Amino acid sequence: MPIHLSFLGAAGCVTGSAYLIQTSRAQILIDFGLFQGMGDKEDLNQMPPSLDVSKLNAVLLTHAHLDHTGRLPLLSRHGYTGPIYCTTSTIALCGLILRDSAHLQMMDVERANRKRERSGAPLLEPIYTAEHVAQVFDLLQGVEYDITREVAPGIRARWVEAGHMLGSASIQLCIEEDGDTKAVVFSGDIGAKGAPILKDAVGFKSADVVVMESTYGDRDHKPLQETVEEFEEIIRDTVARRGKILVPVFAVGRTQLLLYLLAQLFRRKVVPKFPIYLDSPMATEATKIYWEHLKLFDEDFQALHLERPLAEDLSMLESTPTAEDSKALNDKPGPCLIMAGSGMCTGGRILHHLRHNLGKPEASILIVGFQSEGSLGRRIVDGDKEIVMFGERIQVKARIHTLGGFSAHAGKTDLLGWLSPIAKDKPRLFLTHGESRGREPLAQYVRKQFGLNAELPVLGQRVQL
Ligand SMILES: [Zn+2]
Repeated sequence: MPIHLSFLGAAGCVTGSAYLIQTSRAQILIDFGLFQGMGDKEDLNQMPPSLDVSKLNAVLLTHAHLDHTGRLPLLSRHGYTGPIYCTTSTIALCGLILRDSAHLQMMDVERANRKRERSGAPLLEPIYTAEHVAQVFDLLQGVEYDITREVAPGIRARWVEAGHMLGSASIQLCIEEDGDTKAVVFSGDIGAKGAPILKDAVGFKSADVVVMESTYGDRDHKPLQETVEEFEEIIRDTVARRGKILVPVFAVGRTQLLLYLLAQLFRRKVVPKFPIYLDSPMATEATKIYWEHLKLFDEDFQALHLERPLAEDLSMLESTPTAEDSKALNDKPGPCLIMAGSGMCTGGRILHHLRHNLGKPEASILIVGFQSEGSLGRRIVDGDKEIVMFGERIQVKARIHTLGGFSAHAGKTDLLGWLSPIAKDKPRLFLTHGESRGREPLAQYVRKQFGLNAELPVLGQRVQL
């Protein structure tokens, strides 16, 4: 029987990553992510009809982000009890992210059901609960980078550094079928070269088949050094005005990057130390997990940490676990920096900080992540002069800064660099994890640079390898 590959997500969009490999002896899944921000298409977050859990031998994860792991609890809900392999540091982050996901879904369903109850419509159920998360968490098994192991009959796998978040990996499969062996690689999400804290992506030297992300396949980001300089200037200016710096953040990745940069600022005495408030229990937990895995970070991080532990530079870092602690920050004087969720200002504690500070000319709002269409964060970035929050009109007088150069994803040049050593083998190439504006231009660059014709699979497509 030929080997088959099915695209169960991230085909033409950037969420829902999931790929199914089928041979005569085994079936494995690579990632099983949640579809996010798809509006009415979110009913995609169900068990795909082509996936028979009773035939599944193993699941392999590239990294912990929700768009790569968020459908895993569906597997336990449908009776899966096999292994889920991921790098050791991914286990803790995955638990944190999935527990939060179950909680958010429960809240969304409760909110929707209150409306439905009033209109007499049938009530909704969350796609999974905290119990399913606990069950699936027990199935996670840690693997080390660069060690090949058998994951299913006739399938060996090896995880290598992808430089995208703590524990992130690209995965190489060696699949034996009909006396032949095929090397199939999945890029996972690839990080930008030279990004702070993380080691650079390693990549592979050869492959027969490549499934590669294309999120920013159309462009390069602003050079990181420029972004870091801009960041320093914003901090210096706001501190001089004795204002508050508000940073809407997602808990994992960007928060730790900013803490690292702030530690460096204090160590170099660019500004005197000032209080930093981590106003997000999830970000606090994620930061703890990051700091427990210092050995996985790059040489610059190691050198800095060896010279003197980063914790000393961050002696004014404080976590604010409860809602009361968070509200008490309103009365604290500037200068100070507050990191709070959600990253797109669509909810969470950042809202009450914005309400108190958007109208203050001495304050700065620092946007470091992607803001989707329709989010409050997007309106702030777009320069709306008046924002309505909590039924109140607020004139925006704070300074708004957008720093685009901290992306966790490689730009076009780094993506092509990752593919370059494999391209000489003329592998079959599938571009996924990108909207049309990312993957179509990348397909053109790949054709021009390597003479490869990339395939752009659609959701549900099944191909013979
Ligand atoms: Zn990711």
